[in-house]
Amino acid sequence: MKKLMAANWKMYKTVAEGVATATELAKLLADRLPADREVLVCPSFTMLSAVAPILTGVEGCFAGAQNFYPAGQGAFTGEIAPEQLLDLGCAYALAGHSERRHVLGEEDGLIGKKVAFGLDAGLKMILCVGETIDERRAGQVEAVLARQLEMGLAGVLEKATAANLAVAYEPVWAIGTGEVAGPAEILAAHAFVREKLVALLPSEGAAVRILYGGSVKPDNAGTIIRLDNVDGVLVGGASLKADSFSQIVLA
Ligand code: PEP
Repeated sequence: MKKLMAANWKMYKTVAEGVATATELAKLLADRLPADREVLVCPSFTMLSAVAPILTGVEGCFAGAQNFYPAGQGAFTGEIAPEQLLDLGCAYALAGHSERRHVLGEEDGLIGKKVAFGLDAGLKMILCVGETIDERRAGQVEAVLARQLEMGLAGVLEKATAANLAVAYEPVWAIGTGEVAGPAEILAAHAFVREKLVALLPSEGAAVRILYGGSVKPDNAGTIIRLDNVDGVLVGGASLKADSFSQIVLA
């Protein structure tokens, strides 16, 4: 499987700014993307229709969504459905990002529903998992990851494959803080996620991609991407500038 180099633009940028960044990124990556890498950008919903065609114009680049509501259509004011994302050119979506868990109060049950609904609708899903600093200090990293993986994947044990599912390990204390997890912490967490994936998805778990996220920057991406069981990265802050994200993609 190709390494998945993913950008999460969070709630940043106007449409014009998103188009400018995507256009610059497309120029920086066209004809330079190594055969073993693919690129995903998840902008705000507001600019998906403008940004997706720019990205998908480059071989190996995709657009994705940061969130959706797990229903086909209906009376869900303010929400957006997987079908509407596919219609805008999205191939992927995130579920369970730490900001949705800890700022918006999303719980494992809802996140599991999103993973299952998204896969059924035809989106490739990236399930984000990760412990808080208090959970790490209390020695609960594996217990937290086990619970988030079991509940996040509960509805897809029969249908998740290495092609339609990825997991992002994002320690909450490393997201947006500049405090990247060290190689030993990443290796240990990714080995545990791998073990759990193989137990939950016996035929596919060994090949499901595991991304690392948390203060990935151009100067640490090369080391991180070459660690065992690291099959990609999910990047927030350093993905907002095309130059910095392209250096990460090519690291
Ligand atoms: C993220 O938003 O998933 C993330 C990892 O953010 P940052 O790279 O800014 O830590």
